This record gives sequence, structure tokens and C-alpha cells, in this order.
Amino acid sequence: MLSYRHAYHAGNHADILKHSILALTALSYGQKDKPFTYIDTHAGGGLYDLDSAEALKTGEADKGIRSMLRGSPVLNGIESYMDICKSMEEGRNQYPGSPELVRRLSRDDDQLILMELHNTEIENLKRRMGGDSRVHIHHRDGFAGIRALTPPTPRRGFALIDPSYETDDDWSRAARTLIDVKKRWPAGSLLLWYPLLSRRIGEISLLKDSLTVSDIPGILCAELHLRPLNESEEDGWGLTGSGMMLVDPPWKMYESIAGILPGLAGMLGGEEASWSLEWLNAPV
Ligand code: SAM
Repeated sequence: MLSYRHAYHAGNHADILKHSILALTALSYGQKDKPFTYIDTHAGGGLYDLDSAEALKTGEADKGIRSMLRGSPVLNGIESYMDICKSMEEGRNQYPGSPELVRRLSRDDDQLILMELHNTEIENLKRRMGGDSRVHIHHRDGFAGIRALTPPTPRRGFALIDPSYETDDDWSRAARTLIDVKKRWPAGSLLLWYPLLSRRIGEISLLKDSLTVSDIPGILCAELHLRPLNESEEDGWGLTGSGMMLVDPPWKMYESIAGILPGLAGMLGGEEASWSLEWLNAPV
């Protein structure tokens, strides 16, 4: 049974890394006058209440997005993401999950396919996103769903794979899904979020190794470390940071991410923080 609830973590440092890169990707796809498809395999509830009992219990949003919204000036390169966060926080004390963020960056012809398996979260997602005719919501396993639904129409597009890593096989399924889906959907850009946890060093290495030997060109790996990976796990959930894999990202994404990582590390992590950005496989 699934027990992870993103409401406890919405707007934390991991969401900021993931959603900054997701927003950069959506903006890049929005530059051309051609529609895109967005696929979200693990959509969660769509958007989150920052004053909910869950959010207040962990205080992660206070240390994350709320502290960035209070800080000034806004980091160069993530203005659109921060504008959306600001308007949602000021208006209703809300934070955009990945579905709401991409919905707000989409145009009339774009399509959003959202999948979620948790019985409560799927109801939240339907209630919050269901009124938009561009949004298609599926109560199903996201790993199987993205295989079944690719290549989508329109073919131009990108996907976020954002598992909760509640089950040990989420790691291997994530790697396998990236590789299989890239073959089924060559035009797609694929994004995978993963946690940096000292107890998961083995899985993180295996993920990188399996992508490297896949021979898929253009795999970019971005990591934001709030503390060194092998240090104690202080923040309750155990994260020392998080990473994003980008398979075949849009043009100039390396430069865009390189422009924001030092600022994110400084704002979210302080002196101990570091970041890395490397091509696991070079683009062709
Ligand atoms: N992508 C969301 C965002 O950025 O706002 C957060 C998603 S949260 C990290 C992961 C979600 O995946 C949870 O809501 C969980 O219920 C859901 N989930 C777990 N296993 C799943 C699976 N196999 N297929 C689809 N959803 C799953």
C-alpha cells in the first residue's frame, strides 16, 4: 500500500530543484509555435496548501520556497517559476505541484497527461486539475502508463518521472522506464527526479551506470547537495539533497541549469552546500 504523501514535503529544497528545471523545460518547449505534450507519471495532488497540518508539521516549505520568496532579489533564470510560486503563496498560501506548474506554463493547444496511483491523491488531482480540457488524468501505475501512452500526440514534448521511492524497485523501474520510453518516443525529453540519501548510495550509482551503458546520447545529471552525501541524515526525511536526470533535454539546458545551481545551493544550503552538473552521455 502506498503511504507517501507529498503534502509533507511540498515546496522543500527538492521540489525547488525539480520544479525550477521543469519550468525551464516547459518554457523552452513553449518558445516554438507548435504544441507540446507533457506527461507526469507520478503527479501527486496537483497543488498543495502550505498551511496544512502536514506542511506545518515538517516546516520544509518554510525552509524552502517560503524562505526563497522572502529573500531578494529573485535568482536569475527562475523568474517564471518564482512568479507562479509568489502568486499562489500570496493569494491562497498554496504551492504548485508539477501538474499545476506545467498547466500554468501551457498554451491552449498543449496537452497534459497526469498519472497517479494513490487513492486519495488521485481524487485531489481530479478535483484540482479536472476542469481543464487540456488535462487528461489516469488512475494508474505511472511506469506502465508512460509506456502505454507513448509516443503521444502531439509527439513533441517532455515527461517528468517523479517516484516516491517507497518501494525498492522504484529505482530499477525508473532507470528501465527512461531507457524504454526514450526508444518508444525518440522526440521526447525525459526528466527523472531522485533523492540523495546516504543509505541509497548503491542505488544512485546503479542508476547512473545503467544510463551510461544504455548508449542513449544526451543524458545530463544535475545534483544539489545541501550536505555531503555520506553525512548524517538530519532533516527527518533523510535527504541530503536531490538530483535530476535529463534525457535529451532542450537546447541550451546545460547552460540554463549551470546558471541557477550555484544560486540555489547558496540560498538553500549555505556553506556546506555544493552542486554538480555533468553529461553522463554526451549529446550528439
Ligand atoms: N510530481 C509531484 C510534484 O512534483 O508535485 C510529486 C509526486 S510525489 C513525489 C510521488 C507521487 O507518486 C505520490 O503522490 C505517490 O502516491 C505516487 N505514486 C507512487 N507510486 C506510483 C506509481 N507506481 N504510479 C503512479 N503514482 C505513484
